[in-house]
Amino acid sequence: MSDDLRILAVPALSDNYVWLLADASGAAIAVDPGEVAPVRAALAREKLRLTAVLLTHHHPDHIGGAAALTDGGRIAIYAPHDERIDVPCTRVGDGDRVAIESPALRFDVIAVPGHTKSHIAYFGQGIVFCGDTLFSVGCGRIFEGTPAQMLASLDRLAALPADTLVCCGHEYTEANCAFAETVDPRNAALSRRLAQARAQRGHGTPTVPVSLAEERACNPFLRVDTDAIVAALPDTQDRVGRFAELRRRKDGFQAPAA
Ligand code: ZN
Ligand code: FE
Repeated sequence: MSDDLRILAVPALSDNYVWLLADASGAAIAVDPGEVAPVRAALAREKLRLTAVLLTHHHPDHIGGAAALTDGGRIAIYAPHDERIDVPCTRVGDGDRVAIESPALRFDVIAVPGHTKSHIAYFGQGIVFCGDTLFSVGCGRIFEGTPAQMLASLDRLAALPADTLVCCGHEYTEANCAFAETVDPRNAALSRRLAQARAQRGHGTPTVPVSLAEERACNPFLRVDTDAIVAALPDTQDRVGRFAELRRRKDGFQAPAA
């Protein structure tokens, strides 16, 4: 990420993050503003002015504040092709490029169906805004796709450069680590990540962004081809089967009380 850019995770709703990416002049974009008040407060506190909004998918906890923040259309909104996002916006899809003047930013749009059918991610400046597709040490629930689709989407994100900063939509890292340990118990990188996440949450700081390299080392949903995950799921046939089984187990998993 370039030196004169600043990235901020703004906590919103119960466990969402709205991402702000700002340059030294104070021009900033917001990603997935699920609500207005915390974003306005962060913009004021950091002396930033909003110039554009990026949306990854139609769920209310990601778009709820977009219309109000953009002042009825005076600030550009970029969003996937999905009529359930009912705000004036520029629709973008796989292979499109979003160019923002101030701050000067370029993003490649990557289709990542699975959590929802029209979910997209934005990759640029060494950052990926991936909404509810990839979480730290986890992934989104499959609401509108198949396991094969979701895995293909995660494969595309995992293929980005190793130093890419993953900016996801929720703070789920501690619970995700607790689940990951049930299928990858001897992974030292995962134990370190859990200890780090506990310390970060203990201090009230976000556990993200996190590098993609770290995710490849810790996230079971990116590790379906590793010996550890293959060995943990002996009754599965192939990588899609392993992924589906991981997702099924996670859906039923209760994180132990912290
Ligand atoms: Zn969602
Ligand atoms: Fe969400």
